Amino acid sequence: MVGLAKGHIESLRRREFVAGAALIDGRWVEGDEKDVVVDPASGEVIAEVARCGAAEMTLAIDAAERSFKGWRELLPQRRGEILRSWASLMLAHSDELAVLVTSEQGKPLAEARYEIAYGAGFLQWFAAEGERAYGETIPSHKPGSVLQVRMQPVGVAAAITPWNFPVAMITRKAGAAMAAGCPVIVKPAPETPLSALALARLAEQAGVPRGVFQVVVGDPIELSKPLLQDTRVRALSFTGSTEVGRLLLKGAAQTVKKVSLELGGHAPFIVFDDVDLDKVVKGAMEAKFATSGQDCLAANRIYVQRGIYNAFVDKFAAAIARLKVGHGLQAGTDIGPMTKSSVAEKCRAQISDAAAKGARVISANQDQVFGPNFVVPTLLSDVTDDMLISREETFGPVAAVLPFESEEEVLARANSNEMGLAAYVYTDSLRRALRLSEGIEYGMVGVNTASFTGPPIPFGGWKQSGLGREGSRHGIQEYMELKYVCFGDLVA
Ligand code: NAD
Repeated sequence: MVGLAKGHIESLRRREFVAGAALIDGRWVEGDEKDVVVDPASGEVIAEVARCGAAEMTLAIDAAERSFKGWRELLPQRRGEILRSWASLMLAHSDELAVLVTSEQGKPLAEARYEIAYGAGFLQWFAAEGERAYGETIPSHKPGSVLQVRMQPVGVAAAITPWNFPVAMITRKAGAAMAAGCPVIVKPAPETPLSALALARLAEQAGVPRGVFQVVVGDPIELSKPLLQDTRVRALSFTGSTEVGRLLLKGAAQTVKKVSLELGGHAPFIVFDDVDLDKVVKGAMEAKFATSGQDCLAANRIYVQRGIYNAFVDKFAAAIARLKVGHGLQAGTDIGPMTKSSVAEKCRAQISDAAAKGARVISANQDQVFGPNFVVPTLLSDVTDDMLISREETFGPVAAVLPFESEEEVLARANSNEMGLAAYVYTDSLRRALRLSEGIEYGMVGVNTASFTGPPIPFGGWKQSGLGREGSRHGIQEYMELKYVCFGDLVA
């Protein structure tokens, strides 16, 4: 495992595809200090990147502010052309980008390739949405007047992005902001800066003007201070934990910014006894083990109706036992390492807590050791509501299965969590599917499917899972202001 990612990174470096410098005001800033990037599978250092500070971030804000006028005045069609060129370059370099993602994030290469296509899709989607950012004309309540509503770009936007989707979470924010006419400054997660910097390279090649897309890497707390305090930063978009989301919301209150937050999830996955078990197990595998479980849409509580409970657990356990754990760059790997050791530790703590409180731990590979960041795919059966895993997000390949008796009971239990991002319902009854999808307090609901994301859908959560929406026609609104104009005295 040692040397695998490093070898790939060396070869990409020779082809000038790996940047270690930040992109600020059209210049690549090396910085005096460095941070290291680690292959999470082996723990090996694979690259160095600049450690920027508050001074560099302020330079980036200055440059973004300078670029705003020129960028907002471009025709939306022209902005769209640039975004489409950027997307085409991403797709043309999909193999190189995927290797970078896998090397620093850990996910299997096939999933990394999927992420590049998914990420490019947001640029293509918003290229078109920018052209359709219509205002309105309101039937007037004032004699001799015309009432108009315009949509205008909010100004400089900041994006603080996570390590689980190091490409797509950037394009989902930057595509929307840039299509709206806003320059954007990205602060990527320190674990995955290489993917962000490669995107910045491609943005330059696509003709994104100086200052419109910048990537500043370094310490999160130091870099976020100017973003929060500077009045010129008018919008802040964040994806990550609810704890950090709360801090940023509080920080942004000082300058009353437009804030959108995509925070943690704790998805209920509800299975009624009228379903086809093979289909539901396939859905559960996808909803639980995609991105090695490090996904805010991941099924965190799999509720199965009592009549099919044992049959489901047996089939699910058999499917889990077939998962291949390994380095993401090795062919056939289904489950890679956790990107951060803290995530692996959290998974282990949840398994121990559940076992101590009476859950059955089922794991075919329990005694295999792959490295400290690996968590062997594990099924916890007979999980109860008082266990840690029933309350806090897992973010790893540990599946909790809980029995239930009635629809009323499972709806109350599903809604009893403060998170409200995604939920899944499997049933053959149309009436029940409609009732459940109406009563469930989550922003996104998959009925008989575990696959529902993509650029056209409004991605976002209720309750403490966040504020605002990304993707879809709604995503661009996070970077626009409404302006109401009343033309009066029109009577000649
Ligand atoms: P995190 O919230 O700490 O990190 C996300 C981003 O926030 C990164 O860019 C990070 O550098 C930045 N950040 C961290 N602390 C900050 C601060 N004080 N000020 C400004 N920026 C800051 O997430 P984490 O600790 O890496 O992961 C912990 C948990 O968060 C995970 O186990 C998971 O539950 C959740 N998470 C959710 C998502 C998601 O897609 N919603 C993504 C990543 C993590």
